Amino acid sequence: MSESRGFCPRCGDPVEPLTGETTGAGRANERAPVCEECFFAEFDLVDAPDRIEVPVCSGCGAVKRGKRWVDVGAGDYTDVAIDELAETLAIHVDAEEVSWGIDPEQVDENTIRMHCFASGEVRGQLREREFTVPVLISRGTCDRCGRIAGEDYAATVQVRARERTPESDEREESIEIAQAYIADREDAGDRNAFITEIGEREEGVDIKVSTTQIGQAIADRIVGRFGGRVDHSRTLVTEDGDGDEVYRMAYAVRLPPFRPGDVIDLEGSEERDPVVVRSARGNLKGTRLRTGEDYEADAEDGDAPDATVIGSVEEATAATLVAIEDEHAVQVLDPETYETRTVRRPTGVEGDEESIDVLKADRAVYPLPAETSRPNS
Ligand SMILES: [Zn+2]
Ligand SMILES: [Zn+2]
Repeated sequence: MSESRGFCPRCGDPVEPLTGETTGAGRANERAPVCEECFFAEFDLVDAPDRIEVPVCSGCGAVKRGKRWVDVGAGDYTDVAIDELAETLAIHVDAEEVSWGIDPEQVDENTIRMHCFASGEVRGQLREREFTVPVLISRGTCDRCGRIAGEDYAATVQVRARERTPESDEREESIEIAQAYIADREDAGDRNAFITEIGEREEGVDIKVSTTQIGQAIADRIVGRFGGRVDHSRTLVTEDGDGDEVYRMAYAVRLPPFRPGDVIDLEGSEERDPVVVRSARGNLKGTRLRTGEDYEADAEDGDAPDATVIGSVEEATAATLVAIEDEHAVQVLDPETYETRTVRRPTGVEGDEESIDVLKADRAVYPLPAETSRPNS
């Protein structure tokens, strides 16, 4: 057995021959095993950085990992700092039965001292190490917040209406549609989705957004809600560093000229032919107030038949029901003059009602269909 004894290549002390399994991969490049004392003299159980820095965006709270900014959704960066530190800590490959812990100590708003503990079994010996790594939270600006601050945008959604200006509920809901779409994209992890600016103008609303795809999607959703169409155009803004042309898109939403609840007078008939509008999506649809019949504009007229607005269901008043004349007609009191008038009998009126809803337009009294109302009133 004495012949197989070796000597430590560092200090020359005799060394017991090692079994294969204690010679870890990390030491495989050494020609001969060193003695235990020499081995542990330069053994590091843990490879830890002296300090780490965690860049955080002061605008949105995103954390920079490598070259990418990541939304972590954290108000408190202690957990983020622990994760970042844990990523950089390395326990020696020869260690077995490893355990470790990190105990954060908040020093000030931007500094966390990480008290770390690690233990593991190496060559049959329990090794332990305690050490501290300061983590510095550094405040910066992520690329997204930088673009927003620089008022950068790729597309504008312009909410307009034909032959009128958008009303306040259309303006508000268009903005909500845009914000909801951006929120969905953010939830899906898209860091390139943002609104740069919302501008209220006399003729409508301008919403500046980060990408053309988002501009198109928001415009389509507004049309899906209110009807109308989208006209798009592009403008050359500049040439980028490589000489490529950079365009900005404008998606102009043209809301229909008439809204649900409008009472319009169709042109082209000899008598007045008022229609209360039910829907302006696709072809305009409504109810003829004179006859109670359905009306739908033909495809050529679409959502804009030749007509003028003569009132709105918001102006409807209750007219006292005097008598049922027959199955087609009832008598009501004119809400303005209190004269008795004979009008069309609306479906569902049995005679025990005290009043029915009517609209007075151009001195005529029209009973309103029961289901007619503005969508948001
Ligand atoms: Zn030695
Ligand atoms: Zn940011």
